[in-house]
Amino acid sequence: PSGDTRLVPDPASAVALAASPGWALAAVDQRDQEGDPWPPCGRTFARRMLERLSAHGLELRGAYELEFFLGNRVAPREADEPEPIPAHVGPGYSAPVLADQEPFATDAIRALERQGTGVMQFHPEYSTGQFEISVPHRAGVAVADTNLVARHTIRAVARTNGLAVSFAPVVFAGLVGNGDHLHLSLWDRRGRNRFAGGDGPEGMTREAEAFAAGILGSLPAIVGVSCPSVASYLRLQPHRWAGAFKAWGRENREAGLRFVTGMVGSRSEAANLEVKPVDGSGNPYLVLGSIVAAGLDGLERDLRLPEPTLEDPASLSAAERRKRGIARLPSSLGAAIAELERSAVLREAMGDMLFDSFVATRKGELEAFDGMDDDAVVRAHRWRY
Ligand code: GLU
Ligand code: MG
Repeated sequence: PSGDTRLVPDPASAVALAASPGWALAAVDQRDQEGDPWPPCGRTFARRMLERLSAHGLELRGAYELEFFLGNRVAPREADEPEPIPAHVGPGYSAPVLADQEPFATDAIRALERQGTGVMQFHPEYSTGQFEISVPHRAGVAVADTNLVARHTIRAVARTNGLAVSFAPVVFAGLVGNGDHLHLSLWDRRGRNRFAGGDGPEGMTREAEAFAAGILGSLPAIVGVSCPSVASYLRLQPHRWAGAFKAWGRENREAGLRFVTGMVGSRSEAANLEVKPVDGSGNPYLVLGSIVAAGLDGLERDLRLPEPTLEDPASLSAAERRKRGIARLPSSLGAAIAELERSAVLREAMGDMLFDSFVATRKGELEAFDGMDDDAVVRAHRWRY
């Protein structure tokens, strides 16, 4: 009951929000009253990991890929609020669906462009009411800052168009969910992307391979951070392109790590590693920090990747998966927390206070949702994110 912390804005991160006239958003660091970093501050954790990476001569660049549900709420905030009316029922990726939502699309793209966030791609995604926006990559902790800015902007644009938005892992039980995949690459001091032009697998350099192998090795524990809600596991399932397996492969959307080489001609710019078991209920700073911590472990131990997987891991026999070292990622929050608790890498990286308090809150959440059916879990998360 005693003590206090302060949220100290980082002016370098401030963005005047184009869709929220009069408002700006700046990321904050949590500090104690002496002005020192507060040990459980997620943003400080991510920065600390990025500084360790920089000691290896490497800069991380990346972006979270934003998937979200768009639709209309019926009787918002009533205890028995009905399911929302989706802005589309497919087909995914189709021009008619896009045309129907042009006012929203135009406003979102304009706002993101005007405030300097930028947009690389906008399209109707596969699930009911789902859309996706990709934003240009940033360096370092700005990768996570930008995730918050973009989400706030999309939410504001939805509101002014009379629509509601959800970044929750699932919006309807049983349907494909929303990912918040992290795309990342590593750049050396000479400005070269280490995920291209090397003699490692698929053209990675050995450094990038070691980093990726570290992430792959710790992926079951990372999932406890990147898919941290009970609802996360209604999304993280095979056959939904959510990356439910501990495996990697070039362009494999069923593998937890999808290696994206990019088009011929732009590979040195575009090659990146996509971490798919990440959803919008995660804290983008803790997710970024944990993934970098695992990558650093791989770098420091000079780990190698196993053979890539190009098939759907769910289509392989259990024996074949075992032979190739492929495993299903945790299929419940309880299982993910157990993996996280076993991770010396993530405990050491986060520090005891952040690690223990994070695990304790996950366990509290697990208890709070104990015995609830899928629909109740979905309802409880739908408008929280
Ligand atoms: N919606 C899928 C997910 O839950 C991802 C689809 C895609 O590959 O972009 O992660
Ligand atoms: Mg997508």
